[in-house]
Amino acid sequence: LPSSVAIIGAGMAGISAARQLHEAGVTVELFDKSRGTGGRMSSKRTEYGEFDIGTQYFTARHNAFCSELESWREQGWVARWQPRLCRIDEHGIHPSEDEQHRYVGSPRMTALSRGLLGGLTLHGSVRITQLDRHDQEWILTDSDGNRYGPFIQVVVATPAPQAIPLLAAAPQLARAAEQAAMEPGWAVSISFSEPVATTIDAAFVRSGPLDWICANHSKPGRAENCNWVLQSTPEWAAAHLDTPAAEVAKLLLQALGKALQTALPATRLLQAHRWLYARPAQTSDWGALAAPDIGLYACGDWCLGGRLEGAWLSGQQAAQAVLGQL
Ligand code: FAD
Ligand code: NAD
Repeated sequence: LPSSVAIIGAGMAGISAARQLHEAGVTVELFDKSRGTGGRMSSKRTEYGEFDIGTQYFTARHNAFCSELESWREQGWVARWQPRLCRIDEHGIHPSEDEQHRYVGSPRMTALSRGLLGGLTLHGSVRITQLDRHDQEWILTDSDGNRYGPFIQVVVATPAPQAIPLLAAAPQLARAAEQAAMEPGWAVSISFSEPVATTIDAAFVRSGPLDWICANHSKPGRAENCNWVLQSTPEWAAAHLDTPAAEVAKLLLQALGKALQTALPATRLLQAHRWLYARPAQTSDWGALAAPDIGLYACGDWCLGGRLEGAWLSGQQAAQAVLGQL
C-alpha cells in the first residue's frame, strides 16, 4: 500500500508508535530481530516457569501514560505489584516501603506487548540491516538479503547503537544516536529447590556487583514460588562483558547470599543473560527524532527518559510526527 509505514523494533516504543498510526487508519508493518515482541520488556521461559529478565516493573507519571495504563489494566494485560521493598547496603538490609505505585505485565512481562500488538503485522526474526530510498519510498533489506516495501515512511525504534546504521540517510539523526551511549547489564534467573528464607520481595542494592534483586514469584500471576531475578550494576557488567555466562551467574548468586545474609538453598536453574544495551548512560528529553523531508524517524527510551514510560511516550511522539507528514 502506498501509505504504509515500516517500524523497525517491536519493543514498547515501536509498538506504541504502531498502535497510534493504526488507530489513525495508517497501515503499519513491524520488524523485529527477535521472534516475538517486547524487546527489553522481556520474559524468559524455562521449565521452572517464566522470569522477567529485562524491565522489572514500571511507574506512570505523565498524564497520557497514566490514562493509557488504565486501559491496559482494564484489558488485564498489567497488574499492580506491591512488593515488600528493601534497600541493602554495606550496613545491612533496611526496609524501604513507599507509596509509589508499580506495575508489571501479567502473568508475565510480555503479556503487555502481546496484548498491545493485537492484530498488527509483525515480521519476527527479521534483522533489518539496510534502508534504501528510491523515488521517495523506502525499501528495507534484512540480514538474509530479503527486501520489504515500498514504505512511505520508516520509524527506527531500536536501541541507539543499533539505530546508527539505519539512520545513515539522515546524518543529524545518526549523530544523535551516536551521542546516546548505552550501558550493559547482566540479568540472572534462578530457580531454587525450595523457598529462600527471607521476608523481602525485592531490594535496591547499593553495594557490590548487584543493583537489584527480586523474588519473581512475588509479582501477580507468577505461579512458581522459588524464582529470583538478579541484576548487576552497569559498572560491574562493563567489567565482566566477556566473562562466561555460567561464571557470571555463580558470582551474582554468591552476591545474593551475601546481600540477604542467609544460606541459600540449592539451585535447580541458574542462567545469566547479557544485555549489551540495557539502558541509556544519560537520559535525554528529545521526545522523538525526525527527518520529515525524507520520512525517517527515530524513537525509544534513549530519546526520552530511559524508562518504559519514556519509551511509550517517545513512540507516541514519533507517530504524531509521521501523521503530520501524511
Ligand atoms: P527495546 O525494548 O530495546 O526494543 C527495541 C527492539 O528493536 C528490540 O525488540 C530489538 O530486538 C529490536 N531491534 C534492534 N535492532 C534491530 C534490527 N536491526 N532489526 C530489527 N529489529 C531490531 N525500565 C523501567 O521503566 N523499569 C524497570 O524496572 C526497568 N528495568 C530494566 C531492567 C533491564 C535488565 C533492562 C535491560 C531494562 C530495564 N528497563 C526498565 C528499561 C526498559 O526495559 C526500556 O526503557 C524499554 O523497554 C525500552 O523500550 P524500547 O522500545 O525503546 O527498546
Ligand atoms: P522507582 O521510582 O521505583 O525507582 C527509581 C529509583 O529510586 C530506584 O532505582 C531507586 O534507586 C530509588 N528508589 C525508589 N523507591 C525506593 C525505595 N522504596 N527504597 C529505596 N530506593 C528507592 O521507579 P522508576 O523511576 O520507574 O524507575 C524504574 C527502575 O528501573 C529503576 O529502578 C531503574 O534503576 C530501573 N532501570 C533499570 C535498567 C537496567 O538496565 N537494569 C534500565 C532502566 C531502568
